[in-house]
Amino acid sequence: MDPFGTPAPFMAHALELLGDKGLLSVTATDLATLCGRNSKPVERRYRAETLYLEYSHEIALRIILGKIVREANARGFKAKPLFSFYRDHYVKFFVLVEKEKQKQELGFVSHCFKCGNRVEGKKAKCYCGHTFKHAGPLWVGETSDLDIVEAMAQKTENEKTKKFLETIANEQFFPPYFFDVHKTVKRTGTPVKPMADYLGKLKEKGFKAERTHYAPTAFKTNASFKDVLSVF
Ligand SMILES: [Zn+2]
Repeated sequence: MDPFGTPAPFMAHALELLGDKGLLSVTATDLATLCGRNSKPVERRYRAETLYLEYSHEIALRIILGKIVREANARGFKAKPLFSFYRDHYVKFFVLVEKEKQKQELGFVSHCFKCGNRVEGKKAKCYCGHTFKHAGPLWVGETSDLDIVEAMAQKTENEKTKKFLETIANEQFFPPYFFDVHKTVKRTGTPVKPMADYLGKLKEKGFKAERTHYAPTAFKTNASFKDVLSVF
């Protein structure tokens, strides 16, 4: 499926054409809407709420994946994302569907627009006292299959593609959001340092931290917002 704009109206039909172990490929070019300030069209198309954030592209990708999973589950399929990515002005997905009655769990991201804190789940109040806003329901699991992405990275002879794939492989198994260095520096009032410094310090403290393919100036970590700020 590679329609102009949103793939949302075509998902049901595409899934009905698929059998057991069918492979669904979806491209979505409606990122301007999905990452925009107006959440009404997103609610209508994807039955999910979005937020205008530094990690909006990941939220957009996960909202569409969430929609694919829900549509698949409604037709007696279990959906397994094999490869998903954001690039230029679009997001692309390859999803394996298998005949299996299952309701796969979706989740939420809570974001505090006062202090910048973000957590997985639908939480009420931030530790700073401000009320959280929510994005979702969205897919919070892995967006790509590690074995497949690593195999693709090994096969390609193009160095740029290899790096892109390796970054995607490394960023699986993290919370469904990331941290932008420039945005964080603004919050802490500290000078910008090389990305490796931040990643190194987080790892020293026992956290996982990796670059993300969503933005060259951003990273993913399992450290809390407070711990990220302390490293900055
Ligand atoms: Zn807060």
